[in-house]
Amino acid sequence: MIPPIASRFVADTTVPGTLDYVSDCNDEGLGAIVNLLGEHYHERGPADEDADKYCRLASELTRHDLDGCLSVKPSQIGIDVGPDVFAANFERIVEAAADDDVFVWCDMEDHTTTDTTVDAVGATARSHPHDVGVAIQANLKRTRDDLRRLADVPAAVRLVKGAYDEPSSVAYESKAAVDEAYETHLEYLFREFDRGVAVGSHDPQMLELATDLHEECGTPFEIQMLMGVREDAQRELARKGYEVNQYVPYGDKWMQYFYRRIRERKENALFALRAVVGV
Ligand code: FAD
Repeated sequence: MIPPIASRFVADTTVPGTLDYVSDCNDEGLGAIVNLLGEHYHERGPADEDADKYCRLASELTRHDLDGCLSVKPSQIGIDVGPDVFAANFERIVEAAADDDVFVWCDMEDHTTTDTTVDAVGATARSHPHDVGVAIQANLKRTRDDLRRLADVPAAVRLVKGAYDEPSSVAYESKAAVDEAYETHLEYLFREFDRGVAVGSHDPQMLELATDLHEECGTPFEIQMLMGVREDAQRELARKGYEVNQYVPYGDKWMQYFYRRIRERKENALFALRAVVGV
């Protein structure tokens, strides 16, 4: 069980509890992007084990008739052990999930992993077209090239601002520069990716731009936001008819994820405390 202080951001420690949470999301018109918490495994054993868990989770989502997909971290399934271990585990998860008609996203970690991640997703997308997607970070200076490269790959793109502290040699540092890059890339995606765009942001300015671009280009899009962040807005957007998918972390490694959410925004600490004292 997740302690009340963290339950705003993490669904549960168990699969059944997480499936119940996903079911509640679905009742409110939200799809779920389910992520088993875990990262930076330096041995093959835990990486393979988490890959197995994702395969079983895909079956459970389908068996319970839930609107959900998976999101996997490269360092959780072996990128720190070796690129081939990561690529093999990713392919294995996608194969199993495709049998259950479940889509698989690949999260993006720091810039040293971008090439390996895009390569693995690209290779898997060629054997499983339209079953996979990858997060691409607007703060990285290389992103325009990565998006061009992905334009010919049958994979979806989730555009995010980027959550990792990166050196200025590879990334924009000011919020204004990252926001400007996000807007430029979003526009490129809506014009070039007529198969659809995933907008991974809580930022009202980016969501407004996405709806404007959708009206102008007709490109379909989905909005992706984190569990515990602007949930009223998520439900409101779903009520208005937008496709909204909530990123739902679960598992017993909740502590590190919880502290990351608190560190990135001080209001999150207040929300978490309110959950404990019940106001
Ligand atoms: P920000 O620039 O943080 O905020 C802009 C505005 O959004 C704020 O001014 C405010 O109006 C609103 N807002 C933001 N947060 C809150 C809040 N807590 N409460 C109320 N209003 C708020 N990063 C990666 O590097 N790799 C990934 O694979 C990845 N996957 C992600 C998946 C999803 C579904 C999402 C939503 C994010 C993901 N991220 C990932 C994180 C992302 O890179 C950003 O760090 C994070 O989303 C914060 O940026 P933002 O676009 O939400 O806006």
